Amino acid sequence: YPRELADRYHADDRKVLAGESVINQEEFGIDAAGGQRWFLTIKVPLRDAAGNIGGMVRVSRDITERREQEQKIVRLNRVHAVLSGINSAIVRIRNRDELFHEACRIAAMHGAFRIAWIGLRDAEGTTQPVAWAGEGSEFISESHDNPDATLSQHGAARMAMSEERVVIENDIEQTGPIDWIRAGAIEHGCKSVIGLPLYSEEKIAGALVLYASERNAFDDKEELKLLEELAGDVSFALTFIAQQEKVNYLAYYDTLTGLPNRTLFFDRLSWQLASAGREGSGVALVILNVDRFRMVNDTLGRHAGDALLKAIADRIKASVRAEDTVTRLGADGFAIAASGAWRAQELAHLIESRNRGLFSSPFSVEGEELRVSATAGAAVFPADAQNAEVLIANAEAALNSAKRQNVPLLFYDPEMNAQAAESLRMENRLKRALENNELALWYQPKIDVMTGKLTGFEALMRWMDPQAGMISPAKFIPIMEQTGLILDAGNWALSQVARDCATWQEAAKVAPRIAVNVSPLQLRAKEFVDNVIDAADGIEQTGGILDLEITESVIMENVDAVIPKLQTVRGLGVRIYIDDFGTGYSSLAYIARLPIYALKIDRSFVVGMTQSEDSLGIVNSVISLAHSLKLRVVAEGVETEVQADLLRKMACDEFQGYLFGKPVPSADVPAIMRRLS
Ligand code: C2E
Ligand code: CA
Ligand code: CA
Repeated sequence: YPRELADRYHADDRKVLAGESVINQEEFGIDAAGGQRWFLTIKVPLRDAAGNIGGMVRVSRDITERREQEQKIVRLNRVHAVLSGINSAIVRIRNRDELFHEACRIAAMHGAFRIAWIGLRDAEGTTQPVAWAGEGSEFISESHDNPDATLSQHGAARMAMSEERVVIENDIEQTGPIDWIRAGAIEHGCKSVIGLPLYSEEKIAGALVLYASERNAFDDKEELKLLEELAGDVSFALTFIAQQEKVNYLAYYDTLTGLPNRTLFFDRLSWQLASAGREGSGVALVILNVDRFRMVNDTLGRHAGDALLKAIADRIKASVRAEDTVTRLGADGFAIAASGAWRAQELAHLIESRNRGLFSSPFSVEGEELRVSATAGAAVFPADAQNAEVLIANAEAALNSAKRQNVPLLFYDPEMNAQAAESLRMENRLKRALENNELALWYQPKIDVMTGKLTGFEALMRWMDPQAGMISPAKFIPIMEQTGLILDAGNWALSQVARDCATWQEAAKVAPRIAVNVSPLQLRAKEFVDNVIDAADGIEQTGGILDLEITESVIMENVDAVIPKLQTVRGLGVRIYIDDFGTGYSSLAYIARLPIYALKIDRSFVVGMTQSEDSLGIVNSVISLAHSLKLRVVAEGVETEVQADLLRKMACDEFQGYLFGKPVPSADVPAIMRRLS
């Protein structure tokens, strides 16, 4: 290059003109056809006889091929790193979810893939992402529980699964955003994708999908081989985990009924006792034996016997709570461990009740209706025993006495038997009370804090027993819950509100809002929404408005099933109150998703407010939290001016309590309405 020309080049060239040599520099250039090339260059100054620099010599070699090779090696090294990372994870990890997350994390971090995710086929046959990694990949979690967001069958994951082959698309912008994952990937700068099928026990189980930020990232044979090897290793781990689970299953579960066996039961019971011990609560254990089971086996055959045991197991599981432990003990025995010593009576009803007992309706076995009975023994922690061994032994001892005395159930502690008998008598009396119309609703006003005016009433059930007089719901509602009578009683309450509204309308031309308490059992029932629609209609016709109070714990138990029900109810104009708020364990994320009108702070906090800083703090934060979720707050059980003042200062919205009005019989409602409107 003559000086004039070289001067126009970049800084390096000027350095050469100043006397420096440049040896072996990699330079980028464009060839005549416009292709990108790389050169290895040497530049030396060119001097005349006097030593003045008049230009430079430049020698370049085209090293484009070599550079590409090198980059490929870098990539291969990265994939190797991923492979060895995942292999060490496989050795370490014994849990599917964890393995998936780790595989995605390693692929994104060490493999420099933009996004890595794993999809599995769920029970309905649709593909769901279960793990993902890579910067910005959280968008997958945001839409992945949206039921409408299905993945395209032309996407890499579903194709890899349905065709059981490696699927490569080297330019995804061409195909466009075929579904939400693809759209997100494009938005995050991904250009190519590979879908690798994953297998468990030789059956297709899912797909690993890797997105790269370059086009044509997956056109190298060697790299592909490594990636396939990687998918193979994850598949191997899946198979291993599945087999391990089967071995565990056989060791800990009864294969006929699917219930935990004695070994696992003992573990779980010990765990239940330990946690009850820490919380200062209890555990009720019932061991029951199917009466004359051998006769079923002998007369109908073993097959029928097995079917009966399975049917009993299913019914027990359906009748207890999900967190209770149910187990098969011996050939014809079962055990139920329920957290909460108070649940002993509930279990007693489950065994003995003629209305809703486990054995009150026949079992259908191979086309025959079999009437079956059982004998049971029960013991309670910590009253009867301090550890699992003794608790089981004492329940078994009680079972043996029950068999000798030929009664359906005995407790280890005789006093509990008296209670169980009383509670069973109560059940029968309550059944009659419902039939004879001995129930009534009383009404307690709720007051707006700002205006002091009435906002509505809460309907509270009373039992007018001809012999004992008025009985409080605290005494009989729990028994109604245990026996299922609450379903009828709850429907009675809904219809009674309509009748009371009609009376008020006729006598005094007033029509209030009435909140009715809903029991967990009602909420779970299939007919719940229909019943509420009917009741709301009937009440509306008399000018009144129906609201509902539902306790916190029920809603949280099964949020996904409850939300659509509540939404329908809310659509009718029915306000939903969360009752006894603060006593359950609500997740805020759920509260925000529910169509709720207000939270009712449990009376225990209102009482505690003036006694402990903690309660005061809880009330305060519940109120501000509710307000931030645009919910109103009702304080329950306000009895003193001091409490009312504190609550006013914390911006509580409504009061309910003896300070403003005790529950009154239906006839007194119009007078209260006149006074407080
Ligand atoms: P809840 O839903 O929390 O109802 C509030 C209870 O607090 C009522 O007791 C009410 O009389 C009482 N209360 C209100 N203000 C005060 C106060 O200032 N001080 C005190 N000490 N207590 C106050 P009640 O009527 O005995 O009802 C007890 C529980 O029985 C109710 O608690 C509710 O869980 C249940 N219950 C009542 N009626 C029904 C019903 O129709 N259906 C269902 N499923 N449960 C009901
Ligand atoms: Ca209530
Ligand atoms: Ca309450």
